[in-house]
Amino acid sequence: MKIISINAGSSSLKFSLFNMDNEEVIASGVFERIGIDGSKFTIKYDGEKIEQEIELVNHTDAVKVLLEKLIDLRIIKSLDEIDGVGHRLVHGKDKYSQSVIITDEVVQDLENFKEFAPLHNPANVLGINAFREALPDVAMVGVFDTAFHQTMSKENFLYPVPYKWYEEYGVRKYGFHGTSHRYITKSVEKLLGRKDFKLISCHIGNGGSIAAVKDMQCVDTSMGFTPLAGIMMGTRSGDIDSSIIPYVMEKEGKNASEVVDDLNKVSGLLGLSEYSNDMRDILEKCEEQDEKALLARSKYVRRIVDYIAQYYVLLNGVDVICFTAGVGENSIPIRREVCEKLACLGVEIDLDANNQRGEFVKLSTDNSKIDVYVIPTDEELMIARDTLELIKR
Ligand code: AMP
Repeated sequence: MKIISINAGSSSLKFSLFNMDNEEVIASGVFERIGIDGSKFTIKYDGEKIEQEIELVNHTDAVKVLLEKLIDLRIIKSLDEIDGVGHRLVHGKDKYSQSVIITDEVVQDLENFKEFAPLHNPANVLGINAFREALPDVAMVGVFDTAFHQTMSKENFLYPVPYKWYEEYGVRKYGFHGTSHRYITKSVEKLLGRKDFKLISCHIGNGGSIAAVKDMQCVDTSMGFTPLAGIMMGTRSGDIDSSIIPYVMEKEGKNASEVVDDLNKVSGLLGLSEYSNDMRDILEKCEEQDEKALLARSKYVRRIVDYIAQYYVLLNGVDVICFTAGVGENSIPIRREVCEKLACLGVEIDLDANNQRGEFVKLSTDNSKIDVYVIPTDEELMIARDTLELIKR
C-alpha cells in the first residue's frame, strides 16, 4: 500500500510518499514558489536529490508535475499504485475531533472556517482540489492540526471573557500541532506498553507548543485561539498582556492587525535578541556573551518551564516529559537548562544521553521521578497512518 502525505501552503506543497507495508518513505520533496516567479521543486528518493526550476502557475500544476515525476523517475510504475492521499489540514474548529475521509462537506467546512486560519485553510483547499483533479478515484483523508485538542474540557478551553464571544464568535482555545502531539502520545504508548500515563509533550521548533496528555487524551495545550499563544517561539511572542496591543498601536501609528503581525513575525527569539529567530544563531551569540541573546535564551527556557510546571499540577503529577521538533530534538543546551530547572520536581537527566541529537533517546536517569525522552516527531507518517486506517474501513 502506498500513501502520499501532503502539506499544502499558500505557495508551497510538501509531500512524502510512504510504503505503508514498512512505513518507509519512498520519496519526499517540496514544490515552492507556486504562482510566483522562480517556482521550483525538489524531490528526494533512493539517496538521490533532484532540483528543478519549472513554471508552476498553481497547485494543480504542481500536483501534475509531481505525479509525472514519480513515474518518470520510476519511483512508481503507474498512478494506480497510489492507494490514498492524506492532507494536513489546519483548522477544523470544534467540528472535527478526528481525521476524516474528505468529502464536499469537509471542503466546504474548510472554506467556512477560513477566518480562523486565513493563510492555511484556503491553501489546504487548493491542495485538495488539485489532487481531486489529478486522482479523482483515489480516496483522500484530512488530518486536522486542531483535532487532538478537542478533548479539552470547557474549563480548559474557555477564556475568561464574555461568554457570548465563545457562543457567537467561536472565541476559545483550539490548540495546534495536534498531529505531532498525537504522534508523540502514540510513541509513548508503544514505549510503555500501556495507555494510562500522564505526559507533557513539548513540541519546540520555530513554532512551539506544549500539551498535557492523560490516558491518551489532550487535557490542555499552550497554543490558543491562534498559534500566537503559549510559549515563546522563533518569531512569535507567545502569551502577553493583550492591552499591549492598543498601546503599541497608538505609539507606532499601526492598526491592530499590524501589531498582531509584529507579535507573529518579529517577536519571540528574534524580537528579544534583535538578532535571529533561529536557536542555533542565538546559541552562537550566547557564546560571545551577547546580553540580548542570553536574555532571549533564558526567557525562552523560562516559558517552557512555566508551562511544564503548570501542567504538572494540572495533571497531578507526570510520568513522561517528551521533547520534539527542531529545538527539542537538536538543542542540547536548551534541553539541559529546561531539565535543570525541573530538578525540584525530581527530574534528573544523564548529560551524556542529552548530548545526542535528533534521535530517540531516554534522557532521564534511573533516579529521576519523571521519565524524560527525546522522540523525533513525524507528522507526515501520522497523516499516512490515519489515511491508511480510514481508507481500509
Ligand atoms: P522546526 O520548526 O521544528 O523545523 O524547528 C526549527 C528550529 O529548530 C530552528 O529555527 C532552530 O532554532 C532549531 N534547531 C534546528 N537544529 C538545531 C540545532 N542543531 N541546535 C539548536 N537548534 C536547532
